[in-house]
Amino acid sequence: MKKLAEVLRDWEAVIGLEVHTELTTLETKMFCNCRLSHDDPPNTNVCPVCLGMPGALPVPNEKAIESIVMAGLATNCEIMRHSMFYRKHYFYPDMAKNFQTTQGPVAFCMHGHLDLEVSGAGAKERPDATVEKDADGGYVAPIRILRIHMEEDAAKMVHVGGEEGRITAATESLIDYNRCGTPLIELVTEPDLRTPEEARLFMEKLRQTFLTLGISDCSLESGSMRCDGNISLRRRGTTEFGTKTEMKNINSFKSLHDALEYEICRQAEVLEEGGIVYQETRHWEPSRRRTVVMRVKETADDYRLFPDPDLAPFDLTDEFIDRCRARIPELPDAKRDRYVADYGLKRADAAQLAGDPKVAAFFEEALEGVGEKNVPTLANVMVNLAPSYDALTVGQVRGVAGLLAEDALTFAQAREVLDAINGTDEDAVAYVDARGMRQSTDEGALGAIVDEVLGRCTDQVQQYRDGNKKVLGFLVGQCMKAAKGSGNPKAFNKMLAERLEG
Ligand SMILES: [Zn+2]
Repeated sequence: MKKLAEVLRDWEAVIGLEVHTELTTLETKMFCNCRLSHDDPPNTNVCPVCLGMPGALPVPNEKAIESIVMAGLATNCEIMRHSMFYRKHYFYPDMAKNFQTTQGPVAFCMHGHLDLEVSGAGAKERPDATVEKDADGGYVAPIRILRIHMEEDAAKMVHVGGEEGRITAATESLIDYNRCGTPLIELVTEPDLRTPEEARLFMEKLRQTFLTLGISDCSLESGSMRCDGNISLRRRGTTEFGTKTEMKNINSFKSLHDALEYEICRQAEVLEEGGIVYQETRHWEPSRRRTVVMRVKETADDYRLFPDPDLAPFDLTDEFIDRCRARIPELPDAKRDRYVADYGLKRADAAQLAGDPKVAAFFEEALEGVGEKNVPTLANVMVNLAPSYDALTVGQVRGVAGLLAEDALTFAQAREVLDAINGTDEDAVAYVDARGMRQSTDEGALGAIVDEVLGRCTDQVQQYRDGNKKVLGFLVGQCMKAAKGSGNPKAFNKMLAERLEG
């Protein structure tokens, strides 16, 4: 198969996503008072409503409606004042009442958008001129959101025994209704995504937004956030849509990118050989790095959708919507811009800190008392060092940042210190001082070492003056050795260069 970059020169990929997010931070289910917890023993959080007993009546969870309205406002959607719940009928044991309660043509949230900033290697995937590129080749891709609707999750089924991967007469199917009735929001994008990287960034941005809103734990791994992708190809310069395939079983950002990349290349090969792309559902196999057919769609599914007679239509008031708006915290984009404006951080660093609300809260706590000029170093530690550790305290990160900022530690030493104090309550500065790791930047003491090394390494000095600037690294090494590791390499570098150039 051809490589993605080559394929995308001739073909335009048209990608749309459907993202399901469980509202895991709520206490109760969508239409009953059962506790929302997937960790409890199977079938312990159930009642006549979520088990679909005849005559049981659903009552909507107001907090879930608040959550979806917040999600809609945060993604620039129009909040529909009037909407209702529908029944989507199907027969499968994961939904005991034989229909899923969902929304019809009008959802709570309609017609929004998220703007993606695409930069770096990912920006090269989009070779066309439909986006305006900046000097570094990055661009902004506005992605329209068709709708976000409310629905309920189905029960979890586990199939045991029989042939691997197939359900046979020997298979036993186990079912846990604890998940049944979990409030779920489904976001559907317009087919505006053009590259696997854009799809990955969209999911990441959506996850950051929902995490910041606090409406879900957004775990792709555990399935509280799930994503299906629709994809088709068309020749560059044409506008008609090709036949699309649907991809299921995507449970990480990397899988999403890789599955789309594979599918784009696969479809291009089929089309270039004169074949036909069938409308089918495909399944991504990460271990074999390919998609395989799950089922071929010949007709549209007929769910006999109709308004649920047990649930009255909703009329959302302005007061309710205003209350939801007031609960929206500072969103990642605004936070990123504030970090850049207030602390002079690099945009990419600021975006990384602002994206995850836990990281942002940690950063803002660590800022206290760190001193304005040291903030970029603190951000550097948080972006490049801290993510490797799971149990650092705010004080420890602040301490290491302070030592780095005053050149008392090298980056490699900072890593060594973090390795040692991660998961303990040891103070970073005390740790460094107790081991004599603190590096001197004292000009007098270091200057004597520099002069000694220059006096001894006359060959290298001559090579440097003859134009071999690389030899500076050797000289810095000699100084470090002479200082027994207690001299700052940056300071040596600067002083050596000054003396050699002077
Ligand atoms: Zn229940």
